[in-house]
Amino acid sequence: MTLQADHPHPVMTPEFLTSQVGPLFDRSQRYLETVETHGSPLYLLDSAKLADQAARFRIAFASRLPATRFYFAVKSNNMPDISRILISKGFGLDVSSGLELAAALDLGAEEIIFSGPGKTRDELMMAAAHPDRVTLLMDSVGECRRFMGILAEKSQTLSAGIRLNCQPEGLWRKFGILPDQVSSLIQEILAHPFLSCSGIQFHSSWNLTPDRQKEIIRHAGALLGQMPADFLAGCRFIDIGGGYWPETGEWLVSDDPLCHYHLPAAPLDTFAQELSKAVTDHVMPHMSPVICFEPGRWICHDAVHIVVQVIDKKMPDMVITDAGTNAVGWERFESDYFPVLNLTRPGLTEQPCRILGSLCTPHDVWGYSFFGSDIQEGDILMIPFQGAYTYSLRQSFIKPLPKTVVI
Ligand SMILES: *Cc1c(COP(=O)(O)O)cnc(C)c1O
Repeated sequence: MTLQADHPHPVMTPEFLTSQVGPLFDRSQRYLETVETHGSPLYLLDSAKLADQAARFRIAFASRLPATRFYFAVKSNNMPDISRILISKGFGLDVSSGLELAAALDLGAEEIIFSGPGKTRDELMMAAAHPDRVTLLMDSVGECRRFMGILAEKSQTLSAGIRLNCQPEGLWRKFGILPDQVSSLIQEILAHPFLSCSGIQFHSSWNLTPDRQKEIIRHAGALLGQMPADFLAGCRFIDIGGGYWPETGEWLVSDDPLCHYHLPAAPLDTFAQELSKAVTDHVMPHMSPVICFEPGRWICHDAVHIVVQVIDKKMPDMVITDAGTNAVGWERFESDYFPVLNLTRPGLTEQPCRILGSLCTPHDVWGYSFFGSDIQEGDILMIPFQGAYTYSLRQSFIKPLPKTVVI
C-alpha cells in the first residue's frame, strides 16, 4: 500500500488485487456450472468459506479465554441458509427484531440474543415466552421497566442482560443505557421480584483495528468495579459485541476506474490477542463471566458472491446486466470498490468499462472496470464478497431479486 500525495487514502496495489481475484478465477468453472443449472442472476453462498470463517473466529478467541460463546449477528445477512449453517457449527444467533427472532426460533436456534432499541410489547412478550432459548438485552431504563411489568403480569421470573452505551457520541447515543444510569437501574433490578440481570453487553461498529473496542472494555471494567457484589455474583456473561472488520480491509473507489483505495484492517489474531488481553486485565479481576461475541460482517463478508449476465453492450465502454443493485439494496458501488470478474472471458488485467444494472436509475452501478480479456453480451460476471449488509438490505424494486444457490 502506498499513500500518494494526491490521494486521500492508501492506494490498493496490483499485487494485492491479483491475490484476491486470482483464486476466484481459479474456481470460475464451478461458478459457471452453477449459472448453467440455475440461471442468472444469483446470490452464490460458499458454504465451505462460511464454515471456515466461523471456525477461525471461534478458535481465535476460544483459545485465549476460559469461557466463550459466539452469536452471529443476523442483520448482517438474514439468508436462512447462513444462519442454518452457523447454528450447525455451534453458533447462536444475535437478532435485533421480532421478525429476526421469529426466524431464529423457526430455524431451531437454541441460543439467541435479542438486542436493539425500541422493542415493542409484542417483541418483549415473544422473548419472555422462550426463556430457555432467548436472552433479552434491555436497551433502556424504560424498556427494562416495561419488561418488568410483563414479567409481573405473567408472574414469571426471568434473567436478562443490559446493553451498556460506552460510545455516547452523536446518534450512537440511541443504543443502550448510559453508564451513569446503570447503578440505579441495577438497584431497581436487584429489588424486583421477577427480573434478574445475568449479563452486560456493549457493541461498537466498524473497527478496522481493536483500539476502540479495547477502550470500551477498559471503561466497562471500571464500571464493573463499582457494582454491588450481589450483582457481580449473578452476572454470568459479558458480551463484547461485533464490529470486526474483515482482514482484507476496506476498499473504496477513486475517480480513476483503475485506481482503488485500500484501508488496511488488523488481522483477526490481532483482534483476538488484544481484546482477550483487555478482557483479562479489566473484566476478569471483578468476575469470571462467559465472554460472548456477536460478529456479523467478519463471518459473512467473503461467503457470498453475486453473479449477473451482460444483456446489452451499449457502447465499447458500457454494459448493462440482467440484475440491478436492488439486489444489494443501496448504492454500494458508488463508494465501495469490488472487482467485477468476467467469468466467461477470464483475465487478470483490469479494464475500464461501466458495468451497470438494468434499473431505471443512473445510480445502478456495479463497477467502473472489469477483470477479463474482453466483455461481450451473454458474458457471466461475478461481483465477489457481497456477504455483509447487502442481502438483508435487498429491495423489491423494479427487477426481480436473484435466486440463492448454496455451493
Ligand atoms: C450490527 C451489530 C452487530 C454486528 O456488527 P458487525 O459489524 O456486522 O460485526 C453485533 N451486535 C450488535 C448489537 C449489532 O447491532
